[in-house]
Amino acid sequence: MDTSDQSSKKKIKVGIPRALHFYRYYPFWKKLLEELDVEIILSPPTNKKIVEEGVTHGFGELCIPVKIYYGQVLKLVRDNPDLDYLFVPRYVAEVKEAYFCPKFLSLPDVIKILPEVPKILNFEVNVKEFPIATSAIELGNELGKSQNEALNAYREAQKYFDEYHDFLRDGASVNHALRLVERNRPFTLPKKKYKGDLKFLLLGHAYNIFDTFINLDFQKKLQDHGVEVLTIENLPESLFKEPVIINKRLRNYWRHEEEIMQSIRYFLTKGRDEIDGVIFLISFACGPDSLISELVMRDMKVVGLPFLEIIMDEHSGEAGLLTRVESFVEMIQRKKKKLALDSKKKSTVKTL
Ligand code: SF4
Repeated sequence: MDTSDQSSKKKIKVGIPRALHFYRYYPFWKKLLEELDVEIILSPPTNKKIVEEGVTHGFGELCIPVKIYYGQVLKLVRDNPDLDYLFVPRYVAEVKEAYFCPKFLSLPDVIKILPEVPKILNFEVNVKEFPIATSAIELGNELGKSQNEALNAYREAQKYFDEYHDFLRDGASVNHALRLVERNRPFTLPKKKYKGDLKFLLLGHAYNIFDTFINLDFQKKLQDHGVEVLTIENLPESLFKEPVIINKRLRNYWRHEEEIMQSIRYFLTKGRDEIDGVIFLISFACGPDSLISELVMRDMKVVGLPFLEIIMDEHSGEAGLLTRVESFVEMIQRKKKKLALDSKKKSTVKTL
């Protein structure tokens, strides 16, 4: 037998559910685990059956992204009974000033109770307590690697992740970039970049915006209506350096919601004329987002930037969503036409 065949058979098999932080960190995880000689098995894109199964195992008040995570785990372990581990990282804090939602803090513990789940491979990110490199060493240790090997793997993963972020800031969409990562392809932009008549900022957690099943392929719907979409991932790093001060009494402790506020701060000021509208995709029963969307909505009103909030759950329907998108787009198009007409009239009067 071919020796390369033998070595690939010996690899430790690690399953990764395609849900939650997959849409934010997969390139980093993939590089890290592959550098540690692991074979990664990814669950398929979300579908109706995965959602239904996740809903059955998640209690009623749980947000849909976590229910989908349950469904993805169940699908992954059923299709791959030979998995050595299931990779369920625990994201607590990746910056000192903010936390992730508590659902991420407890994820490895709650996943253990699902049926047939293999050993959990943990990777804890909590920079308030210890550097990420420490977790990489622990991960390497669990996989039988030395401290040096683990640190090298971590450095390579971080380098690759930086390249990935640069690619997104050059204008690549997350879904396009993730496809390239999955296929081990170089980061190249599509030949034709989509340019629409309107430009919207699409806000929300990556798992809401880039899971095309649960959001009913929302970005495609916008593009079909002539809208170019910008997401937080495409914005320059400099916008995220300074924290947003809401007021003396109210501080934002949530990591992703802070990023939303930081991007909004730019479009409320210098970037006001760079976009025509803002849409916020929110999961039903999401505490952090419901608070932030209220603040965003108030700010949008102040500067007169059109804003639409869409709440998603497992019952969201195609027809209702389409109607809301169409009326929002039409309203902005009418407004733009009127503005253009008014300024034309003004310049005619001046020439006369
Ligand atoms: S931030 Fe909201 S949507 Fe995300 S896991 Fe927490 S509750 Fe669910």
